[in-house]
Amino acid sequence: MTDSYRHRCGECGHRTAWGSQSRGEQAIAAHYAARHPHVVPGGMVEFRQGSSGCGSGCLIAVGVLVLFLVIAAATQH
Ligand SMILES: [Zn+2]
Repeated sequence: MTDSYRHRCGECGHRTAWGSQSRGEQAIAAHYAARHPHVVPGGMVEFRQGSSGCGSGCLIAVGVLVLFLVIAAATQH
């Protein structure tokens, strides 16, 4: 599913609309740029359950993945 991702801001709880993963990343990046310009973008990714049968384990896996990306981005300079 291409519209199964939603990003949640780690600072204020803002959520993007359901959409593709890349679209969600752009939306949350834009949100951070506008609302939290001095904060490294982070937060959570929510994965909507569809026909794949993916449960909360998926959500946690994606969240951990995002955490790694944030750490990588923060240490990359
Ligand atoms: Zn926010």
